[in-house]
Amino acid sequence: MEKKIALTHLVDLLEKKRKIAANLEDILSVDSKRTALNDHHSRRKPRPCGMTIHTGVGCSYLCAYCYIYDMGFTAVPKPYPLKPEEIVYALTQNPYIVPERTLAAYGSVTEPFLPETVHRAIEYMRDIWRWLNLPTQLSTKAILTDDIISGVLSGDPNASVLITVVTLSNRRLEPRAPDPLKRIESAGRALEKGLKVSLFIRPIIPGVTDREAEKILTASADKGIDSVVLGSLRVTESILWRLEKSGVAREEIEKRLAEPLKGSGQIEVRSSDLKDKIRRLAEEFGFKVFRAACEANIYSHGRYCAMCRIGPCNIDVKAKGLDEEDLRDLLEYLGIRYLGVEVDDKAVKIMLRKTGIDERIKYLVSTATYRKTIIIKA
Ligand code: SF4
Ligand code: SF4
Repeated sequence: MEKKIALTHLVDLLEKKRKIAANLEDILSVDSKRTALNDHHSRRKPRPCGMTIHTGVGCSYLCAYCYIYDMGFTAVPKPYPLKPEEIVYALTQNPYIVPERTLAAYGSVTEPFLPETVHRAIEYMRDIWRWLNLPTQLSTKAILTDDIISGVLSGDPNASVLITVVTLSNRRLEPRAPDPLKRIESAGRALEKGLKVSLFIRPIIPGVTDREAEKILTASADKGIDSVVLGSLRVTESILWRLEKSGVAREEIEKRLAEPLKGSGQIEVRSSDLKDKIRRLAEEFGFKVFRAACEANIYSHGRYCAMCRIGPCNIDVKAKGLDEEDLRDLLEYLGIRYLGVEVDDKAVKIMLRKTGIDERIKYLVSTATYRKTIIIKA
């Protein structure tokens, strides 16, 4: 049966953002506001998986496939320098962010639950949820302790937790991360305590992950995990060198490179055949297979999304209540002079006389409506 969710009036979402910013302006010191405004969270455009929120700087797990070391991060982690209210304020200043809509992804350039960063990560998740209600997603290789589970649940009750496992046998690939079977065990406990956990098989390492997928899926299914996100590998010269040192067959990766390696440039490792193989296996085990991390987030929050060509996602939950009037109000609020609008389940179409609209506004409309925005010049 089709469930209905109420879609908040679109203009209210942006008004809410304005009021939160005004509230924080009253609370924060001049220095805090300056720090927040200078931080990249106040201006960065979200990635397809949502807005990545940095909970720390650096990571000590030293995974051989990790790209952060090529980006200049070190193996000595520190909590991200912004205080919780400062990061919320930075997000209110970011022109791409829409309260309640923009997906928040924690842990993209670090492990969020390192001993040095866990406190900050939980504070961020709780406060960003409390002020802005951005749907929470995090990926982790840490053991989900009772404190972490209750910490995450103190924020977004529908947070999407991705537990990463790409190998059970090759510990050299993740030398300082906790044992993968213990991760899975802790994910099972987290599920019992009400967290929404999916298995995260990313990056698929050719010759390793595809051969171990059955065991990973079996161990996860045994602990009650019933959904999975699959994702491919990207390599730089140094990642490939580290993978080889960790026992991965270099030629398995080289033959799949989408283009020649170029220093610290991240090159895609083509693996749709391996992804298909693991997807089929997972489906045989009864897993729900998500095509992208954001699909898991949309699903765990009972939303519907058709923002990109992969979607629509979670089609059992159609976002009802998005009508032309709502969209017209939003466009007027944004100062867009349009000739007409059309709305359907996959897109919003805006008819303009001649000039286009700012990419930022287009992105904002898409995020607010969870649909593609198509501009038609009349
Ligand atoms: S846990 Fe994540 S950020 Fe840390 S080294 Fe591994 S892949 Fe990199
Ligand atoms: S349509 Fe699906 S894959 Fe695309 S942005 Fe939305 S949730 Fe993500």
